[in-house]
Amino acid sequence: MPLVTMRQLLDEASKGGYGVGAFNVNNLEQIQAIMEAAQETNSPVIIQASRGARKYANDRFLYHLMEAATEIYPDIPLVLHQDHGNSPETCKSAIDLGFTSVMMDGSLQEDGKTPGDFEYNVQVTREVVEMAHEHGVTVEGELGTLGGIEDGVGSGEVNLTDPDQAVEFVERTGVDALAVAIGTSHGAYKFTKEPDREVLAMHIIEEINKRLPNTHLVMHGSSSVPKELVDIINEYGGKIEPTWGVPVKEIQEGVKHGVRKINVDTDLRLASTGAIRKALAEDPAEFDPRSYNKPARAAMQAVVKARMEAFGQAGHAGDYEKMSLQDMADRYSKEGHELATS
Ligand SMILES: [Zn+2]
Repeated sequence: MPLVTMRQLLDEASKGGYGVGAFNVNNLEQIQAIMEAAQETNSPVIIQASRGARKYANDRFLYHLMEAATEIYPDIPLVLHQDHGNSPETCKSAIDLGFTSVMMDGSLQEDGKTPGDFEYNVQVTREVVEMAHEHGVTVEGELGTLGGIEDGVGSGEVNLTDPDQAVEFVERTGVDALAVAIGTSHGAYKFTKEPDREVLAMHIIEEINKRLPNTHLVMHGSSSVPKELVDIINEYGGKIEPTWGVPVKEIQEGVKHGVRKINVDTDLRLASTGAIRKALAEDPAEFDPRSYNKPARAAMQAVVKARMEAFGQAGHAGDYEKMSLQDMADRYSKEGHELATS
């Protein structure tokens, strides 16, 4: 499966000064929506699966759906990333399956709920870096914790990332990408009013980027939770309370300061649920699942397309030759874990 490594994709994003959306998947329609949007906008893209997604879809189904994506869209640089690996074993199973990037989230202990201490985080992340880089696979770590709980992951408490500690963490682990906590949360209920730059602690991103210019920064919990998507759900019988996500313009500020990977999950969930509710309400006699899965897929594609354009990845699919996992493994063995972003 000629997937590309996340390291190469983010290095190129860094050179081009743009961000890349990382979209979560569980099923066929989500993968199709993301790939069609990538094709439409000529974008490199990251598809990620959580542990919950791997369990829901089954690893073998997921693998072959992704293989189909690389066959049907050979010109799109595509990364398959493990979202929130809870242990080195989970990351290893992803690498064995063919993932080209893994997140070792040592900010939480193996239960995915209890915050892990700094030394624990360094130790498990370092272990994954040693194992992954040998195969050319990229590693994302996380320092600090986000609010909210999604797919059973999260402590529910916010601990903002400390920039000095971030430097020590990256030096001791050799991670390629670092997820930072700046006050966002997983899920739909991130903020009770529109967040400003202070609420979002954007200065943390700027400070970390100044100290770690070669480390790609990752924003989790970065759905924008557009009101128009929430409104469609509520108009057709849903009950989503008033809520705010991360404004796209704040993400664009982050991209100016080293944010290269932006995780988006909730917005696709909202788009598909609204489209399905609307289709079912408008034609209650219809019972062909395609009658609601098609508009759901189109609604997700529209969201992904808009994010790709806003993050800046649109138009960049053909900028570079794809490196193989072996090429990347050779780079790590020659240059060490901390590659320069060249
Ligand atoms: Zn996350």
